[in-house]
Amino acid sequence: MSKDKYLVLENYIGGKFVPCSKLIDSFNPSTGEVYCKVPDSGPQEVDAAVRAAKEAFPDWSTKSPAERSKVLNKLADLIEARLEEFVQAESKDQGKTITFARNVDIPRSAYNFRFFASSVLHHTNDCSQMDHMGCLNYTVRSPVGVAGLISPWNLPLYLLTWKIAPAVAAGNTVVAKPSEMTSVTAWMMCQLLEEAGFPPGVINIVFGTGPRAGDALVSHPDVPLISFTGSTATARLITEHSAPYCKKLSLELGGKNPAIIFADADMEQCISTTVRSSFSNQGEICLCTSRIFVERSIYPEFLARFVEAARQWKTGVPSDPSNDNGALISKEHLQKVKGYVALALEEGAQVHCGEGVDKLILPQPNASGYFMLPTIISGVKDSSALMQEEIFGPVTCVTPFDEEEEVISRANDVRYGLSATVWSRDVGRVHRVARKLQAGLVWTNCWLVRDLNLPFGGMKNSGIGREGGKDSYHFFTEVKSITIKH
Ligand code: NAD
Repeated sequence: MSKDKYLVLENYIGGKFVPCSKLIDSFNPSTGEVYCKVPDSGPQEVDAAVRAAKEAFPDWSTKSPAERSKVLNKLADLIEARLEEFVQAESKDQGKTITFARNVDIPRSAYNFRFFASSVLHHTNDCSQMDHMGCLNYTVRSPVGVAGLISPWNLPLYLLTWKIAPAVAAGNTVVAKPSEMTSVTAWMMCQLLEEAGFPPGVINIVFGTGPRAGDALVSHPDVPLISFTGSTATARLITEHSAPYCKKLSLELGGKNPAIIFADADMEQCISTTVRSSFSNQGEICLCTSRIFVERSIYPEFLARFVEAARQWKTGVPSDPSNDNGALISKEHLQKVKGYVALALEEGAQVHCGEGVDKLILPQPNASGYFMLPTIISGVKDSSALMQEEIFGPVTCVTPFDEEEEVISRANDVRYGLSATVWSRDVGRVHRVARKLQAGLVWTNCWLVRDLNLPFGGMKNSGIGREGGKDSYHFFTEVKSITIKH
């Protein structure tokens, strides 16, 4: 196929689209065919973007929050006006269903700009005792400078805008690098920035791989801050490579999230939500449930009904609005996820539905796509890789428990600490368990209900720092204490 048949993306630097001499292939996961060509940027392109961002900083950082807010709201309007184009592109690029992109990814991307456009107007600074030793003490906050933003492939525009919006709302300028596997919607958004009113250089987007473009951003001396969402393994490299510059880091990483289901849970609601929390977006959400602990008295009933409900979760062509799941991101990732199911069988576990049990029939054009059915496994030891490692696909393990203290300790017995769900109608128990779980977010009797004002992030290997309303503002600004003797 000639190059002309593909979408060819260009970097967006200093308000202009700039072609890159080297390109890499990006695939449509639902067909396995090349969908677009993405710039393979390196240190040179990143340096040009950082210079443009540095140049734009003095003007943008001194605009009033109200002026910046207006521009962010306009960008939200423009994304919403083209919602369907973004939906189609996100689904084709990532493999997710158009329904998910239409209900979650793109509306939330626009909302990220709206939310931070509003929240930046309402922050207040601290003022200590008015007359402490004859002094007035108060704080001011200023933007940090050029923010380096690196995002993953699972919620491409959603997670990129979750970083860009607070960074620019707070007065920083940015150089962002989306995942090389899902760059299209970020490039489409660049086409709207001038019309929204962003001065050249405020938002720069450089496309390319992690080891080249990402690392060049992390090790650039003029980028004092990195906000990263991605895997724990990459976060280790970012921490190492940014250490010589003492950069400000926010790391949003992987999870191995438990659901704890007590016998008094509302079973109907619990099953439908746990199917969603395990398999939404092909299980490719950092907050997806992948270990389900069920109180022994209801274990057989739960397992039977859960398997039945998972079989109703339809996997197929992403453009069919009746499908719940589309394709996984890549051939390599599909093999990795399937590898965990093979391991489960080697270890003597039972696979109740999905991979190797049920048949997935796909239309001919999608025969080489990276699809996999929701898969439920039981009989796995807590020490197994299936219960310890992030699988990041449509696979979840179910296991019984007997006591409250036992299940808390088992749920906490992993390196990760991102999110957890607790199901019970006993409000005292819900509070007790939630407080003891090692997780940055605990949902009780629900999942993925997000108030963007609340801190978002994980503990242990799931990350460092928190993002969200006030937390993002704090991360993207430097605070200064001022003392005036009067
Ligand atoms: P990844 O770590 O492979 O890549 C994430 C981003 O980092 C990509 O843009 C990639 O190009 C870049 N990158 C890779 N190597 C780099 C390097 N050496 N230097 C700088 N940048 C580099 O992660 P992924 O596979 O794209 O995403 C899946 C992971 O993201 C999962 O672990 C998932 O749990 C995690 N995630 C976390 C959250 C959260 O909010 N906690 C949200 C979504 C995804």
